Amino acid sequence: AEFLRLDAAAAEEPYPDAGEPPQPVVAVVGRPNVGKSTLVNRILGRREAVVQDTPGVTRDRIAYDATWRGRRFTLVDTGGWEPGASGLQASVATQAELAMATADVVLLVVDASVGATATDEAVAKVLRRSKRPVILAANKVDDERLLAETASLWSLGLGEPRPVSALHGRSSGDLLDAVVEALPEAPRETDRVVAGPRRVALVGKPNVGKSSLLNKLTGEQRAVVDSVAGTTVDPVDSLVELDGQLWRFVDTAGLRKRVQTASGTEYYASLRTKNAIDAAEVAIVLLDASEPLSEQDLRIVTTVADAGRALVLAFNKWDLVDEDRRQRLDREIDRGLVRVPWAERVNVSALTGRAVRKLAPALRTALTSWDQRVPTGQLNSWLSDLIAATPPPVRGGKQPKVLFATQAGVRPPTLVLFSTGFLEAGYRRFVERKFRERFGFKGTPVRINVRVRE
Ligand code: GDP
Ligand code: GDP
Repeated sequence: AEFLRLDAAAAEEPYPDAGEPPQPVVAVVGRPNVGKSTLVNRILGRREAVVQDTPGVTRDRIAYDATWRGRRFTLVDTGGWEPGASGLQASVATQAELAMATADVVLLVVDASVGATATDEAVAKVLRRSKRPVILAANKVDDERLLAETASLWSLGLGEPRPVSALHGRSSGDLLDAVVEALPEAPRETDRVVAGPRRVALVGKPNVGKSSLLNKLTGEQRAVVDSVAGTTVDPVDSLVELDGQLWRFVDTAGLRKRVQTASGTEYYASLRTKNAIDAAEVAIVLLDASEPLSEQDLRIVTTVADAGRALVLAFNKWDLVDEDRRQRLDREIDRGLVRVPWAERVNVSALTGRAVRKLAPALRTALTSWDQRVPTGQLNSWLSDLIAATPPPVRGGKQPKVLFATQAGVRPPTLVLFSTGFLEAGYRRFVERKFRERFGFKGTPVRINVRVRE
């Protein structure tokens, strides 16, 4: 038997870049013992700062979600980085370089009770070259007497030194005000807000049983709900109640009218499929389990994954599947659907009604994953272990360093890895696989973007 496989070249292509992460990044830089970790904890521990993670642990956890005056940002403690340069000055300078490469705002912490050291000056020199805003924190100003020392830090050439006591919390609000003011414009809201019933596309090649399934689903209730009090329904959509929940099946007009697919209409059928997928949050791709998977089936599956929609594979006509066919199908799935091992799967029969009740739970699982967000601290704690165990492969004699990551968006979940170098597709897939093993995300595509800034 001949098995179909999704275009391998397409699988190699990175997903289109989702753009800047919606949450700006603030990196905290400075010599050891100036109080970086204390300051990070102070910022996260404040009442107004929302910590989504278990607090307390530092070093192996370097990035966190923070909020100040309604602005959300990712706070990075560069003390968690091991730049690998020899000598204190070099290693702090490397840290500053990496911070500039990845952050939107750099927060340089200096110990005001010591004053500017040669290392502080070297770092300041690196940062002055940066186009990014730098906020200078004069830490350990526990009382008024140290304010004079603060003024001497003007010599670093980074503008106004801002006195703070990370330990006691003194003036940390003023410092955060300065940080938030320096953040780039409010982030683009990429998460699509969806009101009303969740939107489902029912797609599949001709004759897989789409109309039959829709009729079955709507037939189990009194009638197709074309309009519900207080809800405006696009006439091309169907509202269907499944498992106690109302769903909007998008663009079903063609299915209800049983439009015959004459020759030449295939183009319109595929256009309809694309439109329905774009309009939906989750797609049920209906496949005919009684026949070999076809190229057209796989194309539709790929369209859903590429569009970033949640995915349920429904193997229909299960009443026609015998043991022999079942084994063949398993092999076709293993070899053909390699790109979507995460998809939810149900085996149904629109004719007999077999297992159609399992569709709603599958849709819910897929949508829950589609909406899921992993807090930054948790994500980085997992990622640093993963990278320590399996670092990215060397390219051109250089070992790219993954510094930290954030989940920049949902619908679909999108990770951004901040790295010092390009990460090949194979490594990104490895990260995705491990990410799913740890955090789930069943039923949704996950995008992994890499941000390298030089
Ligand atoms: P890091 O190496 O830069 O992360 O520095 P830490 O946050 O680990 O702090 C180093 C030491 O400085 C610790 O003993 C802290 O308690 C102390 N420290 C931090 N902030 C302050 C402060 O505002 N005032 C005083 N007096 N000590 C501080
Ligand atoms: P559509 O073109 O995808 O809308 O497919 P239809 O719903 O028109 O179904 C195509 C043919 O498959 C019809 O003859 C249906 O009766 C038949 N069919 C649909 N679902 C099943 C099923 O679960 N089992 C069997 N044996 N036949 C089915």
